[in-house]
Amino acid sequence: MADIPYKTYLSEDELPKAWYNIRADMKKKPAPLLNPATLKPVAAEELERVFCRECVKQELDDETPLIPIPKAVHDFYRMYRPSPLVRAYFLEKALGTPAKIYYKFEGNNTSGSHKLNSAIAQAYYAKAQGLTDVTTETGAGQWGTALSMASAFFGLKCHVFMVKCSYEQKPFRREVMRTYGADVTPSPSMTTKIGREINERFPGTNGSLGCAISEAVEKATGMPNARYLLGSVLNQVCLHQSIIGLESKAALDRLGVRPDVIIGCAGGGSNLAGLIAPFMGEKLRGENDYRIVAVEPSSCPSFTRGRYAYDFCDTGRVCPLQKMYTLGSSFIPSPSHAGGLRYHGMSALLSELYDQGLMEAKSVEQTSVFEAATLFARTEGTLPAPESAHAIRAAVDEALECKAAGREETILFGLTGTGYFDMVAYGRYNDGEMKDCIPTDDDLAAGFAALPKV
Ligand SMILES: *Cc1c(COP(=O)(O)O)cnc(C)c1O
Repeated sequence: MADIPYKTYLSEDELPKAWYNIRADMKKKPAPLLNPATLKPVAAEELERVFCRECVKQELDDETPLIPIPKAVHDFYRMYRPSPLVRAYFLEKALGTPAKIYYKFEGNNTSGSHKLNSAIAQAYYAKAQGLTDVTTETGAGQWGTALSMASAFFGLKCHVFMVKCSYEQKPFRREVMRTYGADVTPSPSMTTKIGREINERFPGTNGSLGCAISEAVEKATGMPNARYLLGSVLNQVCLHQSIIGLESKAALDRLGVRPDVIIGCAGGGSNLAGLIAPFMGEKLRGENDYRIVAVEPSSCPSFTRGRYAYDFCDTGRVCPLQKMYTLGSSFIPSPSHAGGLRYHGMSALLSELYDQGLMEAKSVEQTSVFEAATLFARTEGTLPAPESAHAIRAAVDEALECKAAGREETILFGLTGTGYFDMVAYGRYNDGEMKDCIPTDDDLAAGFAALPKV
């Protein structure tokens, strides 16, 4: 392994100066957000009541390919970026595969995931607009942690609604957020109207991202100088995450390596959209071709078993309608251990690319995910987040197929974060108590029946 480096770091000077907007190169764009009352595309002014002005501009911009990264955000990126691109020699060896496996590691910051890439951008735009408070939801806790860090950096007060099962399962995540100055409320809570309603309708509920979003939006719109920030799904978040793919491509280009397959886990779709961004750009412009694979948990299979339809982004139905692959906003997935992948829908951008046949999707079961996570930890050293381990599972399966077929192939996957706060889940797996929860067709039918008629 002497001839090729184990890790490839770009220099700070090579850190990209602009984000890349995939939508600019799409002939058929993602469908517009709709106002749930009028069913007309939402106007920027309507969105600006909930989101920051500049973020709304980015959300609606389907034309500008390169959007400059503000200097303050770029400076913050320099504290923890460029992130390393790693050749997984030891995993390859353990698998005995002829495939070459690379991964882009986003866990090298205290929040422990890629979410900081968008949190710092969104917090910057909130501050630049003169806001004092931001609200958000968090599922597994990574986004809440990232936004707490970003808010502390720019002197914003951050209010986090944390899905109840994570709040109870991950007390240390909660304390990291509080250490960065955020207040953290388990959701559904009794502090918002929608939270009280949900508690009444589903007594003893574990909560879901959809519920927590509704609470955070209600809180933001009830305060004068506050806006709501979302950590995934939206176009703007996919845009900010393009830093992952741009760095990956630059590092691979330096090595003279072209990936055949690019694999990422998909919850709301932001890390995957970011990882594939420049590669998808080449694909859309007809310059190059890549196989792209989204990996989701079989407990929350938005792409592989969902419908491509307009749906609410949240359980309380306060957000605009978005056309996406969805299980229905009323679908509450079983409390799986990859909290960051428990969202009922999928980014509109990825949904449209998937619908156009430009990418594939597969679902994987929880126990097989932890098996892959354990193999990865023991061979590559890094303890992966359960979410990231979905991509590891798929990359390992791909590498094993290469072995069976004697195929030399280059695989790139996104290692989105570390699993230090997920030891309850690892404990379950180590004790042999982990179960696979796969919704039945009837479970899914109930979610589809509640889709809005558009
Ligand atoms: C949130 C999260 C994900 C899933 O979110 P996407 O928006 O789909 O990228 C994946 N991995 C980690 C570590 C996360 O924190």
